[in-house]
Order: sequence, then C-alpha cells, then structure tokens
Amino acid sequence: MNHIEHIIDGKRTSGAGTSVAAVYNPATGEQVADVVMGGKRDINTAIESAKAAFADWSTTPPAKRARVMFRLRDILEARADEVARTISAEHGKTHDDALGEVTRALEVVEYACGIPDKLKGSFSRDVGPGIDSCDERQPLGVVAGITPFNFPAMVPLWMIPMALACGNTFILKPSERDPSSANLVHDLFAEAGLPDGVLNVVHGGKDAVDALLDHPDVQAISFVGSTPVAEYIYSRGCTAGKRVQALGGAKNHMIILPDADIDQAADALMGAGFGSAGERCMAVSVAVPVGEETADKLIEKLAPQVRALKIGPSTDAEAEMGPVITREAQERIEGLIAAGESEGAEVVVDGRGYRLQGYENGFWVGGTLLDRVTPEMTVYKQEIFGPVLSVLRASSYDEAVGLINDHEYGNGTAIFTRDGDAARDVAAKIQVGMVGINVPIPVPVAYHSFGGWKRSIFGAHGIYGPEAVHFYTRLKTVTSRWPTGIRAGAEFTFPSMG
Ligand code: NAD
Repeated sequence: MNHIEHIIDGKRTSGAGTSVAAVYNPATGEQVADVVMGGKRDINTAIESAKAAFADWSTTPPAKRARVMFRLRDILEARADEVARTISAEHGKTHDDALGEVTRALEVVEYACGIPDKLKGSFSRDVGPGIDSCDERQPLGVVAGITPFNFPAMVPLWMIPMALACGNTFILKPSERDPSSANLVHDLFAEAGLPDGVLNVVHGGKDAVDALLDHPDVQAISFVGSTPVAEYIYSRGCTAGKRVQALGGAKNHMIILPDADIDQAADALMGAGFGSAGERCMAVSVAVPVGEETADKLIEKLAPQVRALKIGPSTDAEAEMGPVITREAQERIEGLIAAGESEGAEVVVDGRGYRLQGYENGFWVGGTLLDRVTPEMTVYKQEIFGPVLSVLRASSYDEAVGLINDHEYGNGTAIFTRDGDAARDVAAKIQVGMVGINVPIPVPVAYHSFGGWKRSIFGAHGIYGPEAVHFYTRLKTVTSRWPTGIRAGAEFTFPSMG
C-alpha cells in the first residue's frame, strides 16, 4: 500500500504529525494508500522553505521562469497518460475524462509560458515637469492553494503555474481524498527545473488549512471547494490580512427553449449532467425546459439515455462515468434522491442501489433523472455533486431566468435555443459568472479567467488567465524626477498639474 508524504524543500517527509488518512480506489472500495495528515509544524516548515526560496525565485528573470513552464508543458504532454491514470486511481473518473483534465491544465501552463509579456509594466513620460511615472507588478511572496478532490491535478494547475510565473513561491494543500496527483504535479515541476522549495506540498485537512490561514508569512490564499468551506476560508484569511480568492459550490442550470434542437440539448445534458459522475463544479444539475411540450419531449429523450449510461471503472474504455468519491458521498447522494422523492419529485430513473458486477464494494450511484422538481425541494436548493439530473419545468422564459437569478449559487448557466434575442438577453441578465449559449459546460479557456458569482465565489478575482496576474501580484507605481538645475522651493499644496 502506498504511503503518501509531504514534499517540503524538494524532499519527501512524513513530517511532524502522527495521523494518517485512508485513500480508496472508489471503483473497488479498497484502501490503496494512506496519506500523512500535516498540521501547524509541517506548515511552518514548508513556509520557511518557501520563504527562503522566494529571494532567488522572485528575482529570476520572468523569461527564465517561463522556461520552466515551457519544459513543464512538454513533460505534461508526454506524461499525460500517467497523470490521467494517477488521477483515476484515486478519484475514479474515466481515463478519457482524466485526460481532458490534464489537457485543460496544460492550457494554463501554456498561458503561463507568456508571463514576461503579461508582467510588462507601463511608462508615462512627462506626467509633470521633468516627472515620469511607471507601473510594475511585483510578486506577493509565499502564497498557498487549497484544492478539492474533483480535479486533483487540474485545480492545483489552475493556480501553481500562474503564481510561480509571477514570481511567488507556493504551498499546496491538496484534497486528502486523492492526494497522489499533487505529488506527481510537484515531481513534474521538479523535472522541469523548478528549484527546491519554490513549490511545497503539505497534505492534511482542517489543521493544515488553519495553519496556512493564520500564518503571517502567507500573503495570499487560493481556495477551490465547497461553499461553506470557501466562506470560512475567505473570512478567516481576510481577518488575518491576506488576499483571498475562494471559489465554492454550484447549481448550474440549462434552459431549453421550445425552439431548441431537443436531440442536441439531450446529448448536451447527458455529458454535462453525468460526465465525471456529476462531480464537476460546472456540471449541469438542473434542466429547465420552457413549456410542458418541451419538457415532455426532453424527458422522453433523456430517460432511455440515462438508463443506458455505461458505468464502469476507469480501466473500462467503454465507461461513460465512474463511481463517486467515497462511501459517504454515495450515501449522501442516495439520501438526497430519497429526499427529492419524499418531497414530491418524480423519480423517472433511479440510480440508488446500483451495483456493478465484479465491483460490488465500489462507491457507485447510477444515473438518476428527477422530473417535476420545484424550487422549494432540497434536491433543488442543495448542490448534490453526483449523477443526478433534476428537471424543473418552467412555464416561461422569464420564469426560467428568475429561477436562476434567485438561486444562491451563480457559477454557470447554459441556454439551448435558436433564438438570438433570447440568447443575447440571457447573457446580459443572468446572475452567474459563466454563460454557455448552446455550449453546456462553458469553462473559459486559459487566456480568459474562471469564476462564478454570488455564493459560488468569495473574493474579487477569478482564477487563472489575466485575473491571476492581478491576484498573484501587487501594483507598484514609481514617480520620478531628475531635476537639472530646477529649484521649485517647498510646495505645501497637494501636488497636481495645476
Ligand atoms: P471541500 O470543501 O470538502 O474540500 C476542499 C478543500 O478544503 C480540501 O483540501 C479539504 O481538505 C479542505 N477542507 C475541507 N473541510 C475543511 C474545513 N472545515 N476547514 C478547512 N479546510 C477544509 O470540497 P470537496 O468535497 O473536496 O470538493 C467538492 C466541492 O468543490 C464542490 O462543492 C464543488 O462544487 C466545489 N468545486 C468548485 C469549483 C469552482 O471552481 N467553483 C471547482 C471544483 C470544485
């Protein structure tokens, strides 16, 4: 069985803690590893290492930092298969899905390769008599990332390449449920030539997170995970004077207008609702067909496809979705389906009690389709984070938009229609951060930025892309005068151009 350790200053260590957590293969239910659970002392050691590394790394020319990213890009591409297998072994997602995760991560690394251009300052000559002014963006220092289980390689790579390219040093506290990918990501950086201490990985849970939040030498925290934890991280981190971006949970809707191509919409819902067993923050978990006729047609198309979903372990090349992450997640999801049923939803396809031959102890939930869900139901209010698609029938376009705008989450929304007016209107009015028009999962590419609205995000900056340059640097403006023979005398009024 694997023993997964921290990586501090380039070295693997079990650190100061004594406790470990079990890591499972969700397809078999077997424990495959244990991971050390770090605490304050391990975090302090990692911070010392990252602080010491900052002096050299932050003054390394951006073009040289970019070279590490160029090499990482090639290594990641060459070893994508291995990274995907590492992800799937502990997460359970299909191999192709894991490869998609690696590709999206690779794109962020590619964006970070262009960092010299992105860090270029600006200069204004003669802002006053003999006075010039220039802006530059300087790195923050030691920054940290706290990441969720559902993208164990991609989410760390949403953060680390941009933070490092900007000149910071980094401490990653990955999810304790599938921690091996984080160590592999570290090793790929090391192979790309990243100096020891620039990136440290400390495993653990709340103790490790709290130590990061409270330590005065951590300048900024990037968090991705559930909303209650995001809110906690944001408030405790800000109280400690840090810059914090905390991305939380979601409930993503897809509006299907009567003029939409129903086959296309149903296919999109299958992938967006059940891909990765619904364990994506951009999964579509609510379909909102407008009009009874649209709803009936949609259910007619979806039900047989949900029943026919190919469910299997990541080693099954035919599988369309895998298990969920833990036994607790399986029980929670099944409990929510039961709550939906008892509150009046119609269970069209029931995934409870799903068992896969040969994998009887795995954490499986079958694809589930709930019809006639209403806004008061628990299944609608809560993020399920499982393979459960709810259908909420709206009588009008305005009702559909109102529903989404009233929901506490605001990550993504999709609309399927042929009506340009409606599509344009939804893009303008909808209270979410990412909108897809006939695109079910509108995750922005690496040169845009990712982020929701409302209780899907706490903090002002989205993650990766141009927003990351702002988040991981601070602005300095230098105003200079080289007076040759000018003596203006003391000025007591507020300086201006007059
Ligand atoms: P989680 O909130 O349970 O855990 C996220 C991280 O926080 C982990 O590293 C975990 O160890 C740590 N953590 C957990 N409880 C903590 C506590 N009480 N105090 C301090 N730290 C704590 O999330 P998860 O179950 O790993 O991931 C799924 C969630 O992440 C879903 O809600 C999903 O929507 C969300 N998510 C959001 C995005 C986004 O971009 N908005 C992306 C991916 C996942």
